[in-house]
Amino acid sequence: MPAKQTGSKRSAAATSASTKSTARTNAKKSAAKKSAARTKSAAKKKSAGKKSAATKKPAEKKKSAAKSSSAKKTAGTKAAPRQGPATLPKTEHIDGVLIVGGGYAGVHAATKVRCAGQPVTIVAPTGRHDFVTRLAGVAGATVPASDASTSLDGYASDVIEASMIAAADGSVTLDDGRTLTADAVVITAGARPIAPPIPGLEHALPLRTAEDALTLRERIAHVDSLVIIGGGATGVQLAGSAAHRYSSLDVTIVDGADELLSTMGASSRRDAARILDQRSVRVVLGELVESIDADGATVAGEHLPGLVVWAAGFEARADEFGLPSDDAGAISVGAYLLVDGWSHTFAAGDVASHLDADGDPLPASAQIAVQAGDGAGENALRLLAGEPLRDVELVHRGWVLDLGGYRGLAEFGLLALTAPFFDLLPPLLHWGIDVRHLVETRGVAGLGDLPG
Ligand SMILES: Cc1cc2nc3c(=O)[nH]c(=O)nc-3n(C[C@H](O)[C@H](O)[C@H](O)COP(=O)(O)OP(=O)(O)OC[C@H]3O[C@@H](n4cnc5c(N)ncnc54)[C@H](O)[C@@H]3O)c2cc1C
Repeated sequence: MPAKQTGSKRSAAATSASTKSTARTNAKKSAAKKSAARTKSAAKKKSAGKKSAATKKPAEKKKSAAKSSSAKKTAGTKAAPRQGPATLPKTEHIDGVLIVGGGYAGVHAATKVRCAGQPVTIVAPTGRHDFVTRLAGVAGATVPASDASTSLDGYASDVIEASMIAAADGSVTLDDGRTLTADAVVITAGARPIAPPIPGLEHALPLRTAEDALTLRERIAHVDSLVIIGGGATGVQLAGSAAHRYSSLDVTIVDGADELLSTMGASSRRDAARILDQRSVRVVLGELVESIDADGATVAGEHLPGLVVWAAGFEARADEFGLPSDDAGAISVGAYLLVDGWSHTFAAGDVASHLDADGDPLPASAQIAVQAGDGAGENALRLLAGEPLRDVELVHRGWVLDLGGYRGLAEFGLLALTAPFFDLLPPLLHWGIDVRHLVETRGVAGLGDLPG
């Protein structure tokens, strides 16, 4: 994982990484699909061109011209445009709703739009929906590798395999040089691992995407010890799964806080410690990692040998895309989930800063992303129809964690299913929630991707 960079260097690194990923995925696509997509896109462009010329007000036309020129500027910084040096960035108008990101918020927003019979386009770097809540189990090999992700085909009328590199109200610039405009845009680009300036951080493996989980699954199967930095939900679920799957694996989990799962209730924290202890996981608390190298991590002067996993938290970096954001880099949104100060762009999920009805910050979770995605999708439809937008009320109902091997934790307000007798229930609940997510977004067809 790259060490944290600042300013233009950081953007350039992100752009180059996503360009590589796009190129890799595109290479896998069949020639027939490519040619069909080109035809579809050309037809769309033609009709969209007509539509925008006929319907745009003079002020909007001006805005469009400005967008084009900024798109040229951005694309001009790219070292090798994919279609040769003579290719100039294009602006295409997308009919219906344009969604950036195909995670929990993205597919729920897309489902709302698709079910209303409106066209919906999803932009996502890999063209796949990652089941992030199952990735700890995938990495720890307690659930099948096929649970990591599924194709986004079927979630939207069109899927574009590319990454957003910049956004303005009603428009998104992609790393393939195109700028897409739409009357309603929903940004759901998620978050990424934080990257503090720890020496050797690049040696640690992250766990956020399906690709990360599959890499970890492969690496963990061949090591004797695992050092997980971060005792939140990601680290605890991975430690539990890996220790269950490989009983001879030495697993250590390190966190700077005094307890694991510091954002959860006391009984969840206690029972996480109990389950990990039963699986002989060593827990090091109240200590920060000093450095990481190819053979392990140094914590409080002790070198802990093993494969190092970085699970110390995530951050949205919406500011890098030119989106209005708070100090933490998350997009500031209002009650309609419109981006603050913008009128054609919504934001939902980990990329945004969501509040509950009392104005308190909500945790970054799949549960909130799903609710926000539904709300943003519905408001995008209302915007297209010229109807008044609705307040989107988001509610944090609790946590359900699966530690692998039919053990887990769940808490809903004051109710905690964490005593030994209840250990089996949370994994079943977790599975049920994942199945519900599939059925809600794909209907019965989603059961073909049933998590194992
Ligand atoms: C290992 C792990 C386990 C978790 N377990 C749980 C759990 O049990 N319960 C729970 O509630 N939460 C859990 N979470 C948190 C939860 O997964 C996230 O809160 C949730 O995925 C957020 O959904 P999202 O749609 O906002 O983002 P994501 O699901 O991360 O989706 C973001 C999407 O945006 C795309 N994207 C990223 N950058 C760009 C770009 N520049 N242009 C275009 N597209 C882009 C990505 O490819 C992806 O498709 C877990 C997280 C992790 C890492």
